[in-house]
Amino acid sequence: MTWLLVPVAFVVGMNLWYLAEYLLHRFAMHELKGKGMMSSQHLTHHVTAGWFFDYHHVLSWVGVGLVGGAVWFPLGWWLAGPWVGLALSLGWALGYASYEWTHAMCHLRAPKNRYQRWVRRHHFHHHFGHPMSNQGVTVGWWDQLFGTSELPRTVKIPRRLAQGLPWLLDEDGNLKPEFAEDYELVGSVGIDDRQREIDRVRAFASQAPTD
Ligand SMILES: [Zn+2]
Ligand SMILES: [Zn+2]
Repeated sequence: MTWLLVPVAFVVGMNLWYLAEYLLHRFAMHELKGKGMMSSQHLTHHVTAGWFFDYHHVLSWVGVGLVGGAVWFPLGWWLAGPWVGLALSLGWALGYASYEWTHAMCHLRAPKNRYQRWVRRHHFHHHFGHPMSNQGVTVGWWDQLFGTSELPRTVKIPRRLAQGLPWLLDEDGNLKPEFAEDYELVGSVGIDDRQREIDRVRAFASQAPTD
């Protein structure tokens, strides 16, 4: 075995996660329209667009760890030895960690560089513009490959849902001027039970929220 295979296996492991991220998000979350815990949990995230930690993240980590330990580690070992197995499964786990971190930061913190700016616009167009586009969160190349990539010049966000993105707004609830190039707030800030129910039904049908 050549040692060069170890970093290669690590990068392959990360990309296996990014492919899984795309496929799970598109097929196990959006296409299932709320059937099963993974889908209903994700579509509930679409209803308010807020992010907070809960026990589902722990369950996800357990699932990712099981796949890494029971599939990628033995497969890599079988193909090219234990270090390749370890690198493949660690790449997979690090890919997942980068997804969880990136997704949380999209919702909670303002962008600080070109990648962070892109990843927010890309993900928020998925939330508010077209939920069947941009199924990859961390990277865009699987959407390019599967023809689901979309990025309008400005991403429109209903005012009532912008509350889920605190970094976007000033104290008066208006769009901060530094983000005016990338985002536009539409509709009113008020929300009642009827609107909440409309938002829920549309999120579970993978339709964009109305203004
Ligand atoms: Zn999100
Ligand atoms: Zn989604």
